[in-house]
Amino acid sequence: MKIVFLGTSCSNPTVERNLSATAIQFEGKWFLFDCPEGTQRQMMQSGVSYMKVQAIFFSHFHADHFLGFPGLVATMSMHGRDAPLYVFGPKGTEEQIRKSLNLAMMRKDFEIIAKEARRGKIYEEEKCIVEAFPLKHEVPCIGFVFKEKDKAGEFQRKKALDLKIPEGPLWSKLQKGLAVKVDGKVFKPEEVMDFSKGRLGKKVSIVMDTLPSESYFDEIMNSDILVHESAFLENQKERARETKHSTAFEAGQVAEKTRAKQLVLTHLSPRNKDNEQIENEARQAFANVIVAKDLMEMEI
Ligand SMILES: [Zn+2]
Ligand SMILES: [Zn+2]
Repeated sequence: MKIVFLGTSCSNPTVERNLSATAIQFEGKWFLFDCPEGTQRQMMQSGVSYMKVQAIFFSHFHADHFLGFPGLVATMSMHGRDAPLYVFGPKGTEEQIRKSLNLAMMRKDFEIIAKEARRGKIYEEEKCIVEAFPLKHEVPCIGFVFKEKDKAGEFQRKKALDLKIPEGPLWSKLQKGLAVKVDGKVFKPEEVMDFSKGRLGKKVSIVMDTLPSESYFDEIMNSDILVHESAFLENQKERARETKHSTAFEAGQVAEKTRAKQLVLTHLSPRNKDNEQIENEARQAFANVIVAKDLMEMEI
């Protein structure tokens, strides 16, 4: 799994930072979290393929998270995309997507499947799932968990063949942990699975615009990477409360309380240019923290 920070600013872009968007690459596909203006060029610079974007997940529809969408759709269309594009977001997503495409007088040659995300699992592939959960912002806003599925163990083909279990649905049953019957004889998963090769899937949580709140702690518990907004610093707390945002210190507290392995701060106010200051503030609550830079990549 690879995470690319396409942009890391909030409100408006700066010379150093484009507006916040994050991309995750998994099994050859890209999953995009928010799509503000300028995202296309950031994708180009970091080698994120337009055509391989499987789904876009919008935290909310404030301009600094959304305005790049019609332009990206136009480019996909121009390059002859025909695969459907999944789009998820908070309440009102279908209408918002329709309006934005109308506004751009868009003709597109592929299907856009827009869905409102409710709490819980919203998207699933063979090896990963995406879950959504509500945040506390000025407008409906949601956070996401991208999770690689746990691997129970490795299926040993040779053993199954030696035991004369026919290839097909019985094999997948065994892989799912169920016993099967062949000619009256029962075979248990442990006879063909090497459970020593099992492992827990990686978990990345993406929390954009929000007041820090225990209401989303359960969902993001034990993240390998927690990407959390930190628009402000503690000395700007009044402004953070007014606009319903978190400070760097508060993001650190969230990481600490939810036992994250690593915290990445993003969605930074253009006023806060000193990365070290932002990082140090969060570090007072949580040690393993970094401030994201545009086009920064992380492999997990
Ligand atoms: Zn924002
Ligand atoms: Zn916002």
